[in-house]
Amino acid sequence: SPTPDLQTVVREIAEEMRARPDRGEVATYIPELARVDAGAFGLVVIDADGTVAAGGDADVAFSIQSISKVFTLTLALGMVGDRLWRRVGREPSGSPFNSIVQLERERGIPRNPFINAGAIAVTDVILSGHQPREALGEILRFMQFVAEDPSITIDEAVAASELRTGFRNMALANYMKSYGVIDNPVDFTLGVYFHHCAIAMTCRQLAMAGRFLAHSGRSPSTGYSVVSAERARRINAVMLTCGHYDGSGEFAYRVGLPGKSGVGGGILAVAPGRASIAVWSPGLDASGNSHLGRIALETLTKRLGWSIFGL
Ligand code: GLN
Repeated sequence: SPTPDLQTVVREIAEEMRARPDRGEVATYIPELARVDAGAFGLVVIDADGTVAAGGDADVAFSIQSISKVFTLTLALGMVGDRLWRRVGREPSGSPFNSIVQLERERGIPRNPFINAGAIAVTDVILSGHQPREALGEILRFMQFVAEDPSITIDEAVAASELRTGFRNMALANYMKSYGVIDNPVDFTLGVYFHHCAIAMTCRQLAMAGRFLAHSGRSPSTGYSVVSAERARRINAVMLTCGHYDGSGEFAYRVGLPGKSGVGGGILAVAPGRASIAVWSPGLDASGNSHLGRIALETLTKRLGWSIFGL
């Protein structure tokens, strides 16, 4: 049978997802996130030629939360290179995103850069030698650069909400600090961390931002090299193995693409050589990953034959 048209597939999946009764639970531990419309659904796929296929709420901004960790990892690797791996591991944790248990056994070194502890350690690396506002500016400008959209901003209400209720993250940061894994004052590091998690983006902007990962480290539209092909490949590997916390195995099994989720209900997925994909549905599963977002991606990769593991 001929390859189905991308725009048709995307539109059909958006309609199918919106018709489903199962939605998952919207995150409430960050009070501001509990206010989003649980019925929202957006999907955007951008192929190698830059053709954009969009369905549902493709242009509604949402809180990217942990998806920002892909971009802070990229930035930190650019700043300190492979020395970053002395601060943070790259093995799947098999634990929830906000887990503290492994830190004691592993002397304060977080398992990977995509769980909260690991991302806080990565943020600390970006912060060193800068004021918090400079580090945050650096992260936001990098996001605007890769998304080719200077209008991207931080949702201050989400950042403030998380700061007020971020007791678990404070515990993680202080615990790592006791092992010397955090160099800067804990409040400074957490301030930058909470703010980059509060970046608001649409599926369209997020799919644009992920293009360099799908195309060997280059933006296919500008031709700019964001990272080397080797680094892009490695970031994708960490996304595949660690991007969905204790749901990473299940995501690889069902979707078969590197992907990173956030508790705002977004997922950025990468089909190497083919496309960058962003999906958003705020209801989460038990691991804190978007319930319908994962099902939408599973449906997409199946219909298009895009799993990295074969047809
Ligand atoms: N900012 C959120 C937190 O630290 C990010 C968690 C997530 O998206 N999984 O709890």
